[in-house]
Amino acid sequence: MTATDAACPTPAKLRYATPVVARRAADNDAAIHGEPRYPYACPCGWWHVSSKPRDRRLRVARDGTVYVRKPRKTPTAMEDAS
Ligand SMILES: [Zn+2]
Repeated sequence: MTATDAACPTPAKLRYATPVVARRAADNDAAIHGEPRYPYACPCGWWHVSSKPRDRRLRVARDGTVYVRKPRKTPTAMEDAS
């Protein structure tokens, strides 16, 4: 079993090996459908394109560079009180 054989939650989706191709496919899809498409890394090790942003912290630039925004810590813990 290779790493790419990991279970994919969306096996029907097209798979892209790198964020660069996924970004290109997303841009292409967006042009066709007239709505934004979002490339995202799947647990299966491939990249997919979704019509909904799967992870807002993850951004793929047009050159394929992946930016991962670290989750912002809650400014105040006070709001957590129930
Ligand atoms: Zn997958």
